[in-house]
Amino acid sequence: MPELPEAEHYRRTIAEKCLNRTIESVELGDDTEHVELPGGNARERLVGHQFTETHRHGKLIFAGSKDGPWICVHLGMTGRLLAYDTSDHTPPDFNRILIAFEGERRLAFSCPRKLGWVHVLDDPEDEIAERGFGPDAMDISEDDFVEVIGSTNGAIKGALMAQKKLAGIGNLWSDEILFQSELHPETKASDLDEKTLRKMHAAMRRILAGVCDKDADYSQLPYRWLVSHRHKGEDCRRCDGTITKSKVSGRSAYHCDSVSKPG
Ligand SMILES: [Zn+2]
Repeated sequence: MPELPEAEHYRRTIAEKCLNRTIESVELGDDTEHVELPGGNARERLVGHQFTETHRHGKLIFAGSKDGPWICVHLGMTGRLLAYDTSDHTPPDFNRILIAFEGERRLAFSCPRKLGWVHVLDDPEDEIAERGFGPDAMDISEDDFVEVIGSTNGAIKGALMAQKKLAGIGNLWSDEILFQSELHPETKASDLDEKTLRKMHAAMRRILAGVCDKDADYSQLPYRWLVSHRHKGEDCRRCDGTITKSKVSGRSAYHCDSVSKPG
């Protein structure tokens, strides 16, 4: 499931391939029933405009211009954004919406499981506020992180994934942050001391920036990272332990069994 680094990869796709091109049409794709997509009037608003800038907040991807309108894309479980030229490609499978720019350039939103969505809006900040998202995980200051996470009741894994506290982290990267911080996912967030939280903030930034640097290509990530061997029963690449799986905060958490459960 896409999280901050994957969303950042697709934001860059738009920034590199779709800016400063006049939008000629915005058409719905295949089998769009039960997919949250802009209606005809909202799609029409985009026509004649250009995207001149992009923005990302947590898992939300935005493209628009100073005076708007903007699109906001949430990838859901399986969404992808593809930019291509009509002479090279046809629309991808499970295409739900297709933005045609002048000439051959197209931007398609492919979303097999239909859990992603696209909105047309005036201002990204309104959408972020309306949904009640906390600060972006790459932007939050160390002090704010200590305050927000340290004051959370419940498991640290759930605290990292709570989008209203901290936007952008899901199941995969919360596991990685806890693995590299040598913390059990069930550790109570409010039991962590300030020093540990500060170290965790640094680990979070280092990990997210590292994945963004590799454009979310996991095969390029270090051998010792959990993501490179995140399977039950695998030998831990940091110590003599074994990777194990347990249910934490309603999700499947992978962690090293040598890091003991608190309490
Ligand atoms: Zn280990």
